[in-house]
Amino acid sequence: MNSQDNCIFCKIVAGQIPSRKVYEDDEMMAFHDIHPKAPVHFLLIPKSHVDSLADCGPGEQAVLAKMMLKVPELARVAGCGNGFRTVINTGPDGGQEVYHLHLHVLGGPRNQWKVPLP
Ligand code: AMP
Ligand code: ZN
Repeated sequence: MNSQDNCIFCKIVAGQIPSRKVYEDDEMMAFHDIHPKAPVHFLLIPKSHVDSLADCGPGEQAVLAKMMLKVPELARVAGCGNGFRTVINTGPDGGQEVYHLHLHVLGGPRNQWKVPLP
């Protein structure tokens, strides 16, 4: 498992920083965003460190596919029966703040979402 010493999300995977876990298996983990922008807002990450979507290659193909297929199930269980939004911020102009690839899942009543969206 590729891990980076100073990465906050690698530390969450390792249990060195607490998180409110939504889901975990051998390859991925989901946890609630610490600053939610919607009634439901969690992050889904690969456990193995990769900086961003722009840094993914064939080695990430399988886990990326598994993550995308897992999202609707996790969203449904989290209460997003009326739909949800998936967001991946990539690089400075994409507004990426944490350089461990993560997929935002946002849902809940739209009039309760905070702007700007992630
Ligand atoms: P971004 O890199 O802009 O796509 O977003 C990073 C997201 O990670 C932000 O929405 C933060 O609120 C969230 N975040 C940062 N630190 C933590 C943490 N320790 N636990 C949960 N979410 C976090
Ligand atoms: Zn990491």
